Amino acid sequence: MAQAQIKAVRSSQVLLVVDDRQENLVAMEALLDEGDWQLRCVSSGEAALQCLLEENVGLVLLDVQMPHMDGFEVARLMRGNPRTRFTPIIFVSAISQTQDAVLEGYATGAVDFMLKPFEPQVLRQKIYSLLDHERHRSDLLQLTQQLDGARAFNASVLDNAAEGIVVVGETGLISFANPAMAQMLNCSVSDLEGTAMLSWLLTPEVACAWGESEFYQAWRRQETYRLHDASLRPRTGDSVPVALSCSPLPRLQKAMVIIALDMSVVRNLHNQLESLAVTDALTGLINRRGFYLAMESALSRSKRSGRCMAVLYLDLDGFKRINDSLGHDAGDQVLRRVGEQLKLSLRPYDTLARMGGDEFTVLIDGLGHPEDAARVAEKLIEQVSVRHSLDGIDFTLGASVGIACFPECGQTVDGLLRAADMAMYEAKRAGRQQYRFFLPAMNGRARSRLMLEEGLRTAIEHDDFRLVYQPQVYLDSGRLRGFEGLLRWEHPVAGTVGPSVFIPLLEETRLINRLGGWIFRQGIQQRSSMTSHFADDLVLSLNVSPVQFGMPQLVDDLRRVLQELHLDPAQLEVEVTESALMQDVEATQEQLRQLRMLGVKVAIDDFGTGYSSLAYLRHFELDTLKIDRLFIANMLDSPRDAAVVSTIIDLGRNLGLEVIAEGVETMAQRDWLVAHQCAIMQGFLVAPGLPAAQAQQFPELLDWSALPLPFSQPPEA
Ligand code: C2E
Ligand code: CA
Ligand code: CA
Repeated sequence: MAQAQIKAVRSSQVLLVVDDRQENLVAMEALLDEGDWQLRCVSSGEAALQCLLEENVGLVLLDVQMPHMDGFEVARLMRGNPRTRFTPIIFVSAISQTQDAVLEGYATGAVDFMLKPFEPQVLRQKIYSLLDHERHRSDLLQLTQQLDGARAFNASVLDNAAEGIVVVGETGLISFANPAMAQMLNCSVSDLEGTAMLSWLLTPEVACAWGESEFYQAWRRQETYRLHDASLRPRTGDSVPVALSCSPLPRLQKAMVIIALDMSVVRNLHNQLESLAVTDALTGLINRRGFYLAMESALSRSKRSGRCMAVLYLDLDGFKRINDSLGHDAGDQVLRRVGEQLKLSLRPYDTLARMGGDEFTVLIDGLGHPEDAARVAEKLIEQVSVRHSLDGIDFTLGASVGIACFPECGQTVDGLLRAADMAMYEAKRAGRQQYRFFLPAMNGRARSRLMLEEGLRTAIEHDDFRLVYQPQVYLDSGRLRGFEGLLRWEHPVAGTVGPSVFIPLLEETRLINRLGGWIFRQGIQQRSSMTSHFADDLVLSLNVSPVQFGMPQLVDDLRRVLQELHLDPAQLEVEVTESALMQDVEATQEQLRQLRMLGVKVAIDDFGTGYSSLAYLRHFELDTLKIDRLFIANMLDSPRDAAVVSTIIDLGRNLGLEVIAEGVETMAQRDWLVAHQCAIMQGFLVAPGLPAAQAQQFPELLDWSALPLPFSQPPEA
């Protein structure tokens, strides 16, 4: 410290001189007045104590011999008071020079003894050094107090902080944790200390070692690393969403401080707000905004997958009347009830929303056919249009529905909603209680599809189907190879309906599964009853649709019926199209293997129209190729088609497969096939599909020369 500074500090210190004799005081004053201190002179013990209380006394020169209260007493009292406990005292005495008195003086806390008369220079030196000492002591005391205060303050900040705070060493172990962190992790502070920081982290999942983690890497760069959406893994209970910040401590500490801010409340609030924003408070369904969001994501899905989707806009008929006559509370109840009823007629993954008022919307995603939306609309209208009863009052409601399909009626959310809304008005205008498509053409298509589907359901119930049998004949010898069973629908009004009209719909609606079993049973029964008329190797071919072929229990079903009706499996052939085989190549191989094990033959139907891949011909276990009838129809005029036919014939021969030409209608076609060594034919030239009774009459050996052939059907014009 600079001399001037020391002087300034010293001069603030008080030197107290206590002596009962005035002349002594005057002498002391004269002696000590010139020092770097402030001199106080008092003449009694009491006055000394008073001064000690009032001022910051750095040193006391204390006369021992005083009336009332002697120096020893004053010293004792000073030592008893924390304020003056350490204040240095120099006893000044003339008389009590005895050894005992000196000892007593030290015992009461004196730091020194001066006996009168004394050397002024010595006294001054002593005073200086004791005042310095005292000043250092009080500085130190002050510093300690400040430090204690600061430490207590820091500790209380850490203890009371709501955020979790941990200090993590450079090896990734926690060296300090505050109570808030322990609370977040459902454990005590001591459970945390010494454990790996990463072990308490749920997300982000840190797969790598600590040294490669972002925490460590940022620390190495002396940067703060922040993570807004992390979550902690408490010892018990759910994860805790947190925001983390990890800041390096000064280099020497080789550690970082991580602060975790509990985000549970914020995130819950956020979620709540989100769901509030998309929920209709009255019905609990999603609202207009929610529906827009759902449509947007469905739309982008549909654009990617190319599947169609439909938006239905439903408006209640007669709701206003109820609201006006029964009041708004009743109206609210009705809307809630309608919401629930509508939900009942939808699949769980359809989206139902209330757009406001008495308007609801439905999003049907992934429709096979746009017209299928009509069925949903019908169900919705039916659900709503029942007798309702509220507070003892009966009333009926109705609904009008507008339908817009993607992609036909619009490519955007707004466009589709507008189209559906317009279609809904059209439905209202047309007399309510009905649905309308935005595109008028769809109305007719949807109606006929619905009617057809309805008709098929009844036909299955009423058993209105039958099989006809088309003969297959060896071209060279004219010998009968077998029959292909073909499905017919005997419609009570329309008459006989061919399968191309209804098979696709049966497939789509999966009704084919119900009919498929019937076809097997019917066909196999028929083949059994032919046993007495025909040779044992006569084959009955049955068509198996792609849906049926994809069913794992196909072979089991076949086996059961074959056993039940005592038919040799070798007398049965199933016809499968190329596309059915290619649905799932592995499953196909397995299905074919099982059919082979059962002993049933397999033919590829309509060969040449699909992939016609040589690769699968090698991999699949097959028996027969059936050349599609389009090639046969054109082969005499088109060299390309002729080339396809002869190639298939060669292919079959090389692979050891039987080849059947389908749709042969003329002798010219037959002769061409003979010339090209095709083995078998099927077609109107020989016979169309024949009712069972006629098929029984079919000759086992056909005489090609005896024209016209007995069952041949002249080609259609
Ligand atoms: P497909 O398997 O190719 O059946 C041959 C079709 O060609 C039959 O039509 C048959 O009547 C017709 N046809 C046969 N010879 C000639 C001919 O010389 N000229 C012409 N123009 N046509 C001929 P159909 O009975 O209308 O059957 C159509 C398709 O329906 C069948 O094609 C088959 O894919 C499917 N189908 C028929 N019956 C069944 C069945 O029981 N189950 C399944 N899943 N599908 C069936
Ligand atoms: Ca066929
Ligand atoms: Ca065919």
